[in-house]
Amino acid sequence: MSFTTLGLCEPILRAIKETGYTEPTPIQKQAIPLILEGKDVLAGAQTGTGKTAGFTLPLLQTMMDTPIQKGKARKVRALILTPTRELAAQVAESVGTYGKYLPFSHTVIFGGVGINPQISRLRKGVDIVIATPGRLLDLSGQGAIDLSHVETLILDEADRMLDMGFVHDIKKVLALLPKKRQNLLFSATFSNDIKKLADNLLDSPVLIEVARRNQTTAQVEQVVYPVDKARKRELLIHLIKDNNWKQVLVFTRTKHGANKLSQQLDKKGISSAAIHGNKSQGARTKALADFKAGAVRVLVATDIAARGIDIDQLPHVVNFELPNVPEDYVHRIGRTGRARREGEAASLVCIDEKELLRAIEKLIKKEIHKVQIQGFTPDPSIKPEPKKQQGNSRSRGRRSDGNGKAVGNRERNSRR
Ligand code: AMP
Repeated sequence: MSFTTLGLCEPILRAIKETGYTEPTPIQKQAIPLILEGKDVLAGAQTGTGKTAGFTLPLLQTMMDTPIQKGKARKVRALILTPTRELAAQVAESVGTYGKYLPFSHTVIFGGVGINPQISRLRKGVDIVIATPGRLLDLSGQGAIDLSHVETLILDEADRMLDMGFVHDIKKVLALLPKKRQNLLFSATFSNDIKKLADNLLDSPVLIEVARRNQTTAQVEQVVYPVDKARKRELLIHLIKDNNWKQVLVFTRTKHGANKLSQQLDKKGISSAAIHGNKSQGARTKALADFKAGAVRVLVATDIAARGIDIDQLPHVVNFELPNVPEDYVHRIGRTGRARREGEAASLVCIDEKELLRAIEKLIKKEIHKVQIQGFTPDPSIKPEPKKQQGNSRSRGRRSDGNGKAVGNRERNSRR
């Protein structure tokens, strides 16, 4: 099946051709015809499946099928909500790419940057708005955006939006939209909360699902490297240098951990940058751009900051620490092996993370291959640290190696 059979117009097909895609991915094959029919869709698809094009292409086509607006009088016809600024920026980039030869204008709206440029951009008239909910509501509160002509609403990574506590904001946004509209809800997972949201939002939706819930993408090779906690950094450096990895996304559990690791890698001659929620939007955008351009070899990120990061051909993802929540593992490794390219996801696992690893393996219904790197065999005399309080509070513990010397620094932190 090629894109030409999907009912997309020539300027869209031309833009697709320029990206180099030869055939639609499974989610695109399913979603595009349904969306073009005007159906409400509930789609289960993770990052990496081609979901963004799955909703952007038919959205653009649908908009082409009705009269085109011009100039300042343009009304916002499509609203795409995303949980994070990074994802909003990336979706906007896709809208720009696929809509390159179309007469639509779009803009991206998120917090953490000045509001005035966004207000002036909106004044000039836009057809498509890609936004995170908070800033969108601010703008609406100031009368800077009129959402009463929205024809299509898309919620991207809806599960993440709920996880991040956006449910009330979403409801407030819904109240600003006209009753009659098309709704598309994309989510990697289907919790009860998502089902509830879908019930309220969607009108006789068609359910489509690609990679089944919590299944890791098949083309990602997963491996666990057992190692003592205190030697993880050394092992990471060894892996990067020995295998000559060029573009590595490394996950840490905490912002502090991300900064520290990035600095340590730099000291060892491995160029790196950290991205997390404490960094300014400018710093995050720059770090991501440097990483994409190959100017920075390692990007160290926390789960939140990395959400939705879309980098073509990202070959290596490393879990420096396993996530506290098993589902985050699936999200993390979804950053590699995108759209039929092979990827590798490595997890550095110390004795304290055995339980987390078990929970992940249970979730993905598969045992992850363990590889012991020579020279990094865990010291059998090191026992697991006693469990510390879990949850949102940060607690640290030190463990003694028997000589009174601290060998481990346990850091538990909330993941958001
Ligand atoms: P997404 O799931 O939207 O985050 O997309 C994942 C990646 O797949 C992006 O880098 C897209 O550029 C790429 N992609 C989307 N559609 C296709 C396609 N039909 N063929 C090849 N790559 C694609």
